[in-house]
Amino acid sequence: MIVTIDGPAGTGKSTVAKCLAERLGFEFLNTGAMYRAVAYACLQRELNLTDEASVEEVAKGLQIVFSESRLLLGGADVTDAIRTQTVTRSVPIVAANPAVRRQLVQLQQIVGRTSNLVTEGRDQGTDVFPNAECKFFLTASPRERARRRQLELKGKGEIVSLEDLLEQQQRRDRLDESRACSPLQPASDALLVDTTEMSLDEVSNHLEIIAKRALNLGTA
Ligand code: C5P
Repeated sequence: MIVTIDGPAGTGKSTVAKCLAERLGFEFLNTGAMYRAVAYACLQRELNLTDEASVEEVAKGLQIVFSESRLLLGGADVTDAIRTQTVTRSVPIVAANPAVRRQLVQLQQIVGRTSNLVTEGRDQGTDVFPNAECKFFLTASPRERARRRQLELKGKGEIVSLEDLLEQQQRRDRLDESRACSPLQPASDALLVDTTEMSLDEVSNHLEIIAKRALNLGTA
């Protein structure tokens, strides 16, 4: 059984998907981290990210493994390193590369074939798991999304203005929504949830009730 949670950054996807996976006893897959790992590896090698053939070559040679909420790249723990502002700004360029997407989608589908899964990203309900039993698409107002990102960065000791974050977010949304290959968009059968006025707990509770109903797992 597969539950997909898609949507732009700052809608609470990761936290809610992780929480829902725990409550359902399912595996949790953070596909954004996989694209981040590829971008990180390319930056490490000082590649031109728009050089599609070189980026593809690097992506092919990577060993991406999730281990107890950590992401290992060729055995090294890069969980924190893939969350920097530099990686965040670069990842949509790498994510628009069709060969990189083909490779990561294949890995994601292998995970989906072997376990019950709550998976989050941009294309999980549209292209990766079109037959998923339950699909959500989370949204929130741009200002609220940027405010959440600002809080998250503050927690890590990084102070960034709301205006800067709004600008970065707009650029990232534009790239993710306009790419030719698997653009960010809700699946036609996804349930849209606007999280602007909701706490993460409220979103998790709401999704749990709906998912359990859709999966015939009894009420929450
Ligand atoms: O979710 P997160 O912010 O970590 O995603 C980082 C970037 O990875 C997104 O902005 C997007 O460019 C890319 N991504 C994607 N498809 C996914 C997940 C993430 O293109 N399924």
